[in-house]
Amino acid sequence: RAKSNGSDSFELYKREMRFQLNEKFQIENDLRKALERGEFSLYFQPQFDARSQRYCGEEVLVRWNHPDEGLISPGKFISIAEETGLINTIGEWVLREACFQKKKWIDNGFPAVPVSVNLSTKQFLKRSIVEIVSDILQASELPPHLLELEVTESITIDIQRTSDSLKRLQSLGVQISLDDFGTGYSSLQYVSQLPIQELKIDQSFVRNIGNGKHNEGIISMIINLAHFLKISVIAEGVETKEQLDYLVGLKCDKVQGYYFSKPLSVVDFERLINNW
Ligand code: C2E
Ligand code: MG
Ligand code: MG
Ligand code: MG
Repeated sequence: RAKSNGSDSFELYKREMRFQLNEKFQIENDLRKALERGEFSLYFQPQFDARSQRYCGEEVLVRWNHPDEGLISPGKFISIAEETGLINTIGEWVLREACFQKKKWIDNGFPAVPVSVNLSTKQFLKRSIVEIVSDILQASELPPHLLELEVTESITIDIQRTSDSLKRLQSLGVQISLDDFGTGYSSLQYVSQLPIQELKIDQSFVRNIGNGKHNEGIISMIINLAHFLKISVIAEGVETKEQLDYLVGLKCDKVQGYYFSKPLSVVDFERLINNW
């Protein structure tokens, strides 16, 4: 009985694996065509000053409008794009679109606050990332300080090359934010040596506010660390008033999350900012 149970579940496992493999190949194939077909679009999630709740920037989050599957979130395709190298083309497209959109907003009188673009570690480890950013800034005529790049702690895997690229990006005038902070492996020494302007507290810590002292100790440690390093700190995934109040109490500088707004299309984002 136990044995047949075991082999049943093995059959199920094999079927599941096959399904996942097919799905992966399917996604990879579709991804290759998606750029040409214009299936990607940018969503924007506003960021606010924690105390005054003034609008202070936005994060760009890519979405894929698949012809059959509908809107697909990056959690489903970014890792496949990274494995196949397609992330370089997609990422460059996102960066370009974001800079041109931001320039348009500035020209139309929107507040001159930075736009944040996520960079995959794969993109970041390419030397050419500095040239790509530089070219896009020139073409879009966006002032460099209005572009912020979000990188994750995994960039510290190759610390020598990384700090070199970060320094060159910094000398272009763009800002760097360390995303998902607290979930990676970087030593505090690296963090204090890298030319970064912002730490971004991972949403897993924010979600657990109120659930235990341990977690709250980590949040307060990250905020104090940032302030000690004289850089800014933002919390992502803020969903409730309680979480916001808690973060304001700890002097967190900025906040972002569903409590204020989910990521929005260009039209919806403009409406939100105009009415804020
Ligand atoms: P991330 O950069 O840490 O982005 C935050 C994610 O949390 C976003 O998911 C956002 O929609 C979601 N979020 C924001 N506020 C809340 C909240 O209050 N509650 C909850 N539960 N979630 C919230 P999304 O858009 O699905 O993106 C997931 C990840 O995909 C991003 O994590 C980022 O690592 C990656 N990603 C998104 N766009 C790009 C891109 O253009 N390039 C690269 N390389 N990665 C991207
Ligand atoms: Mg920022
Ligand atoms: Mg991010
Ligand atoms: Mg994050």
